[in-house]
Amino acid sequence: MKVKNAPSPTYAFGYKNPPRSGNEINGLGETVKRRARHVFHSAGLDVLEWQALDDFFSFINLWGVFRHVLGNVWQLRRENGPVNPIHAEVHDPTQMTETIKAEAIKCGAGIVGITRIPDDAVYEGYTIDYEYAIVIGLPMKREEMEHVPHPRAAVEVMRAYKEISHVAIELAEHIRQMGWRAKAYGNPNSLEILHIPLAVSAGLGQLGKHGSMISKEYGSNFRLAAVLTDLPMTTDSPVDIGVEDLCASCMRCVKNCPPDAIFNEKQMVRGEEKWYVDFDKCVPYFTKTYGCGICIEVCPWSEPDNGHWLSETLLNRRNQSF
Ligand code: SF4
Ligand code: SF4
Repeated sequence: MKVKNAPSPTYAFGYKNPPRSGNEINGLGETVKRRARHVFHSAGLDVLEWQALDDFFSFINLWGVFRHVLGNVWQLRRENGPVNPIHAEVHDPTQMTETIKAEAIKCGAGIVGITRIPDDAVYEGYTIDYEYAIVIGLPMKREEMEHVPHPRAAVEVMRAYKEISHVAIELAEHIRQMGWRAKAYGNPNSLEILHIPLAVSAGLGQLGKHGSMISKEYGSNFRLAAVLTDLPMTTDSPVDIGVEDLCASCMRCVKNCPPDAIFNEKQMVRGEEKWYVDFDKCVPYFTKTYGCGICIEVCPWSEPDNGHWLSETLLNRRNQSF
């Protein structure tokens, strides 16, 4: 996909007293493992260090985006609720896993995976007292997302968030009716959890150079949500679909990012070498363009129906070179 008329990285919003670098808050260069901290986008009550830009982002949003945000906030009042006192015993967690995955697809999910909740998926200062996360992904309409970084794509992003939140809410309600605790975590502003590490752990895909997750099914053209629960299930494992092989030589996201925010090499972040996007360069541009999204749409994995073929080709090539 080619990007049309991307605005240049000049900004209407400027800080009189710039906040602490988002990269510093994110732990860029730190060699010791620790959990992530909120910088931008949080459903919590705390004022974030980049709160002013976050507020500006909310104020400039278009009505088409805003109505999906309102709809999402309204429906998320049902993210949790009473649990049926009649508890359905689970004698076969494998069978239950199949049932729940089928239910997630029936509710509207495109992809689904199950994981225990890894440490790196929980923000610093929070604890999670659920055993499992059911992670779901939902594709965005490519014909709308081809308009990144313009407002039409922003409307589609928020529509997808609203729809996937709805799927998570329905699934959580279904589990509570079975007599097990379950809470839906819609996006983008989940307070306690980080959706990408959860999804990677649940085997939905791998982290790409552009800092987003890549799945075989939709590339990065999708959104995530989760249901946290104690319902006994079997878990999935992280997958290798060949993302590392392509990111090692591809530079499409790097070259197309207007503010040059994507590092071409992995960085040390909170004790782990990984792909990383420069927060201080990306987020002002992201705000100016109502959510940007160029990097996830120019990625070859996001081309419709490309992922399975790409994965097979990359893994075959790797095997042949040994
Ligand atoms: S979302 Fe951020 S990293 Fe991606 S292209 Fe836009 S500015 Fe660059
Ligand atoms: S555009 Fe290329 S380098 Fe960037 S994430 Fe996709 S495959 Fe990796």
